[in-house]
Amino acid sequence: SLLVESLDFAYGGSAILQGIDLAVAEGEFLALLGPSGSGKSTLLRLIAGLEQPLAGRLAAGGKPLAGPGPDRAVVFQHYALFPWMTVGDNVAEAIAKAHPTLSRKERRTLAREHLARVGLGEVAGQHPFELSGGMQQRAAIARALALESPFLLMDEPFGALDPVNRARLQDLLVDVWQGSTPRRTVVFVTHDVDEALLLADRVAVMGANPGRIIREYAVPFERPRKRTALFKDGAFHQL
Ligand code: ATP
Ligand code: MG
Repeated sequence: SLLVESLDFAYGGSAILQGIDLAVAEGEFLALLGPSGSGKSTLLRLIAGLEQPLAGRLAAGGKPLAGPGPDRAVVFQHYALFPWMTVGDNVAEAIAKAHPTLSRKERRTLAREHLARVGLGEVAGQHPFELSGGMQQRAAIARALALESPFLLMDEPFGALDPVNRARLQDLLVDVWQGSTPRRTVVFVTHDVDEALLLADRVAVMGANPGRIIREYAVPFERPRKRTALFKDGAFHQL
């Protein structure tokens, strides 16, 4: 589980987050919505351990957070790949963290499989700057999933994707999330209400000035959570 208690954060003198309380149960999929500047990315960076709170408490899996850790995989809003490595090596590096005993060759093979799942099997040998923004974003998602971390923190992960790839990756994320035991705990920032209602168990809405959580509610209906399931008879694949 993830626990955020009475969290305050400021940049310089200006309050950015104030009195954030948030609990995400183990295996829960939480969507975080809210206007630009309300502090969604900042809250995610705090949970990732990349910023230190001014006040309050943060815990993951019952342990207080102190800095980043391999238990929390992050997909950044502005996808960050190591620019000096090929896309395949970016993913292989994450696999090395998850499976330190694998040989270099095994990591390479696994990396290619992870990339193939996001439609990038053919570009493993290229560098990030050779890819489009949407392709880099998919590579960053492949890397985060390859870490196999219990917590998955995703900041508008599908924002740069075309509609077909967006639907495919939504489905992939659902498969990965539902397929892992124990289930991963997901915090998923999005501006897309429809996406939040498709994927999440629960939605938290932030307000701005200062950033705080103004509403929280459980998504009150059952649904397949698969975007492609909304299309009849394979119609999706003709898009
Ligand atoms: P968006 O939906 O546009 O991504 P957001 O909800 O993720 O917005 P944040 O990026 O968390 O918002 O920013 C919250 C506030 O913190 C904003 O007012 C922003 O100007 C401020 N801020 C963010 N990063 C910094 C920084 N490095 N230095 C100073 N202020 C910052
Ligand atoms: Mg943001």
